[in-house]
Amino acid sequence: MPDELSRVFEVVCKGCSRSLMMIERLRDPEIELVVDHLRACSASEPLGDTPMLGEVMARVRVAAVERA
Ligand SMILES: [Zn+2]
Repeated sequence: MPDELSRVFEVVCKGCSRSLMMIERLRDPEIELVVDHLRACSASEPLGDTPMLGEVMARVRVAAVERA
């Protein structure tokens, strides 16, 4: 359990390699932010009007990192 608490996830855009956010859990508000970035990111492939979660996640990299 302590390990779980100390772990966060970094969401990185595959298109522009920018770190978008550090999160503990990916929820709807975070997903919306990712979608907003992908729409604005010219380096990323365009998203449809109602992208599936899988389409969104295919354009980002999520990596577990230890909380500093
Ligand atoms: Zn990007």
